[in-house]
Amino acid sequence: MFCGASPGARPEYAEAACELARVLSHEGIGVVYGGGGVGLMGALADAMLEQGGEVTGVIPRALVDREIAHRGVTDMRVVASMHERKALMAELSGAFVALPGGIGTLEELFEVYTWAQLGLHAKPCALLNVAGYYDGVAAFLDHAVRERFLRDETRALLMVETDPDALVERLRAFRPEPAVPKWIDREET
Ligand code: AMP
Repeated sequence: MFCGASPGARPEYAEAACELARVLSHEGIGVVYGGGGVGLMGALADAMLEQGGEVTGVIPRALVDREIAHRGVTDMRVVASMHERKALMAELSGAFVALPGGIGTLEELFEVYTWAQLGLHAKPCALLNVAGYYDGVAAFLDHAVRERFLRDETRALLMVETDPDALVERLRAFRPEPAVPKWIDREET
């Protein structure tokens, strides 16, 4: 789960994080996240723990103080760098979801999304589009498809959902295509 180190401007963002935590813990699905105790990261972790859910934090040593590492998570992994954080989060996760967040959240989500494009993993990627926050991103990706910088199949690899229940249902239903590197036949299109 990738999400902002800030709470954002609207209460809907934290409310959606709490609702997603409720659905996930009800389904017995744990969360792997950046390990912070602040912003939406903290709201998500707190809500998971309140519901008795499992939470794994992965935080670089240099951010332990800045992002006020959460003290109560089930499992906290302190790593040496941002690169290690992303690699370990990717390894531990069965699906990738971005809640609203800033450039850190976008960077993390887009990295794993590009790995899906390359066939490096076959795990679903999704945006939880709370209060229309990601409308602009979804519209931009559609623009990239029209301008033929992004393939339809690759666009379809990123789910965009407004409702946490529907999102978890779609993640559960996800069946990966056989992992064929998508860039191999790019010349043919
Ligand atoms: P933000 O969405 O900007 O509030 O950041 C959310 C999280 O992403 C924070 O935990 C940041 O530490 C993290 N983050 C920011 N940049 C990177 C990066 N390049 N690699 C990994 N995590 C990052």
